[in-house]
Amino acid sequence: MPLIELDLLVEHSDAAGRDVIREAAIAAGLIWKCRHSACPTYNQRSDELCGGCGRSREGRPLSDFQPGLYVAPDELWEELRDEVTDYFRQQGFAPLPDAVTFPRVSNRDAVPWSHIELVLHYGGVKREHLADPAGTEIEDLLEQIALAIEPTHHDLRIALAR
Ligand SMILES: [Zn+2]
Repeated sequence: MPLIELDLLVEHSDAAGRDVIREAAIAAGLIWKCRHSACPTYNQRSDELCGGCGRSREGRPLSDFQPGLYVAPDELWEELRDEVTDYFRQQGFAPLPDAVTFPRVSNRDAVPWSHIELVLHYGGVKREHLADPAGTEIEDLLEQIALAIEPTHHDLRIALAR
């Protein structure tokens, strides 16, 4: 059932009915409820991260996601974190995003993730951003990471340094 119809059902129920409908929808796997105690958000099945606070389905804070069969060497991954953080600092982003997603674009290129059309995460809020990372090491680091991890078909996400 699309979430919009579920919303309609919930909207036309009293408090008790609302809980029953939501419990049933959770049990059926249509939605999931954020596990963060301070966050009351219900999310769609297809949502990887909570739309309220950005935590994962398991309740973990917004964090790195390395989409590969292997794990990248720490120094490589930390270098990417530093470069990405510096990039957004130099662009005058304040506050800095919590994390940045490099969307998966192609299996065929040396770098399978876009380093131009990015998604910035501020808690549960996502914002699209056109980056111009020329003159940075970002593309080169992504290429090295792709070589190291055997990419799967997922997006790459890195939390920024604080
Ligand atoms: Zn949440």
